[in-house]
Amino acid sequence: MTNLVNDVAETVAEHPEQTAISFRDTDISYEAFWHRTGQLAAALRDAGVEPGDRVGVYLPNLPQFVTSYYGVLRAGGAVVPMNPQYKAREISHMLEDSEAKAVVALSDLVPFVREAQDDTNVEQIVSVGGDADGATEFDAFLADEPMETVERDDEDVAAQPYTSGTTGTPKGVLLTHRNLGWMTRHAGDVMEEDYGPEDKLLGVLPLFHIYGMTVVMNAGLYNGSTYYPLPEWDAETAMGLIQSEQLTIMHGVPAMYNDIINHPDAGDYDFSSLRFVNSGGSSCPVEVITRFEEIFGVELYEGYGLTETSPITHANRPGARRKGSIGQPIPGVDAKIVDEDFEEMPRVEEGPIDEEEYDLDEIVGEVVVSGPNVMKGYHGRPGANEEAFTEADGKTWFHTEDLGYWDEDDYFYVIDREKHMIVTGGYNVYPREVEELLFEHEDVADAAVVGIPDERRGETVKAFVVPKPDADVTPEEIKEYCLEQMAEYKHPRQVEFVEELPRTTTGKVQKFELREQEEAN
Ligand code: AMP
Repeated sequence: MTNLVNDVAETVAEHPEQTAISFRDTDISYEAFWHRTGQLAAALRDAGVEPGDRVGVYLPNLPQFVTSYYGVLRAGGAVVPMNPQYKAREISHMLEDSEAKAVVALSDLVPFVREAQDDTNVEQIVSVGGDADGATEFDAFLADEPMETVERDDEDVAAQPYTSGTTGTPKGVLLTHRNLGWMTRHAGDVMEEDYGPEDKLLGVLPLFHIYGMTVVMNAGLYNGSTYYPLPEWDAETAMGLIQSEQLTIMHGVPAMYNDIINHPDAGDYDFSSLRFVNSGGSSCPVEVITRFEEIFGVELYEGYGLTETSPITHANRPGARRKGSIGQPIPGVDAKIVDEDFEEMPRVEEGPIDEEEYDLDEIVGEVVVSGPNVMKGYHGRPGANEEAFTEADGKTWFHTEDLGYWDEDDYFYVIDREKHMIVTGGYNVYPREVEELLFEHEDVADAAVVGIPDERRGETVKAFVVPKPDADVTPEEIKEYCLEQMAEYKHPRQVEFVEELPRTTTGKVQKFELREQEEAN
């Protein structure tokens, strides 16, 4: 039985005095935190939330997020985490689709919930950080007496996050207690030594996203560690906190590490307290890993996963890593690379390969995975579920829609999302390869490559580049630099300098937005 709530309850019983959450000079003990989750659960029950009901949590990283998450679970409900950057239109889809009964929202965001409320089942709004019309303030909402946890089955849904939605309508991902409980117990397997009560975790990954939710919050609490929430990303604040509080574990997305290494004062910070640093969420350019390690003398390990897999399926780890790889499948998870007929693709001897020496069509296929962390399915989407899963060799395989290859030692290399591949004049170009090269250029701070319509070639390769502040380089020179080092058909025929790239809060470049901008021009 891997029940997330019962697991954390055991930790609370073991370390009641230990600090669970440390936020702006306030330390909240495990006992105090748990007491509040029970009070919130009781208040939700009194407001009509029944076992199985969904409750929206629409908050940045604050102690109240953690309390709300576990409060909803203890009431027997399931959490619908919502990105606090979203507006009424974006959340109304989630609230309608999930049929959420209640929402805990930052007071400034309550008006968006109210705007969306009419078309939904939302009966109760709880506001955090102040009063708001139509909502009950968080502390006033809490019941006097905490309630006992409502027991749930392993297969009951615990969280229903909506996938990034960089394209299409976001789908609700059904993650069960078993999925999340298993992942929470095993998140630390990729470290030299599991998380423990001595650990202090930087809480900058957004909690509404599966990576921050499971790998930082849940795994930290399950292991008795202390969680340091940061409501928004700012390289200087994060670096300052790591140094002053002697944080021991950092999980981040590549865009964060890129900001850190490009910060003019990066070298002045002491990161020696960090015993594990991990990157996930999108591919981390090798150059970023190398520079981070040079500056701080701390290793940076890349992992991979998806919302649908709770999230980790692959990871590099101490003693087992290859830069440029997403690592090996974690114990308990099976993975392979298959072609369109679900036949295994041949492995290369040892990656990462020199892409010029291989015919990528011979080795690149889709990454498929199977394991206890794979979601139950998408909510109310029979068509999407049919496409997402394949039954084979006695297992249920989930299609990641990521393209990659594998080597003889079971390291996997993701080269791109299926939908990002560019077909130009009949050739396939994987943007990631061009992006890696751009990151190696000394004047490039950030870069993204997309395919744009081209009459002659179907699509053509275009690079959006953020030059470093003191850079002395032209788009033409960047183009030449690429052409010198890669096949002619791959090099960006167009290079545009921009101030910044449109990114999701979890660091993914919104390539559809770049393409839309391009079409509008
Ligand atoms: P999400 O559901 O928001 O977690 O997004 C999952 C997607 O993020 C995957 O399907 C990949 O496309 C991408 N992703 C996550 N980690 C990596 C990684 N290490 N390298 C490349 N892509 C990644």
